Amino acid sequence: MTKASIILSFFVLLLNVGCSNAQQKLNKNNPYYSHTDNGKLRVTDAEWKKFLSEDSYHILREKGTESPNTGPYVHNPKKGMYYCAACGHALFNSDSKFDSGTGWPSFFRAYNKSSVIEEKDDTHGMARTEVLCARCGGHLGHVFDDGPNPTGLRYCMNGYALAFEASK
Ligand SMILES: [Zn+2]
Repeated sequence: MTKASIILSFFVLLLNVGCSNAQQKLNKNNPYYSHTDNGKLRVTDAEWKKFLSEDSYHILREKGTESPNTGPYVHNPKKGMYYCAACGHALFNSDSKFDSGTGWPSFFRAYNKSSVIEEKDDTHGMARTEVLCARCGGHLGHVFDDGPNPTGLRYCMNGYALAFEASK
């Protein structure tokens, strides 16, 4: 190995670690972010744009999809809760997280019955089920029926739609 290639591998390693451990940078001034207020939100996209990062806005408000293995939380091994990055609604517990090998954070069940809304999505020539935050209506990802026991479901989420808080 040349010196240059050693240095290069070091930076590639850093980059990978950076990706898998990426945390969401939340805007502390977001007035809609709450773990306790479950009231449904009606907020304009222009308003969300003020408080969401570019990546989060694209996914949550424009139904975007992050490229595999580029978003946060794919390999997050910590115990805790995953909240909506826009409104702070409780979406998934780490207990239901599993490694799907897809490059997106995956869960076999939502935190509770009022966490998410599921809607038919026939865009891009595929029959899929879209998963949205039940409080703010933000796009989170899709759910598929090829998940592990006990539910057989795979909630395939965009990391940039989530905000993780480790349990204390
Ligand atoms: Zn939300």
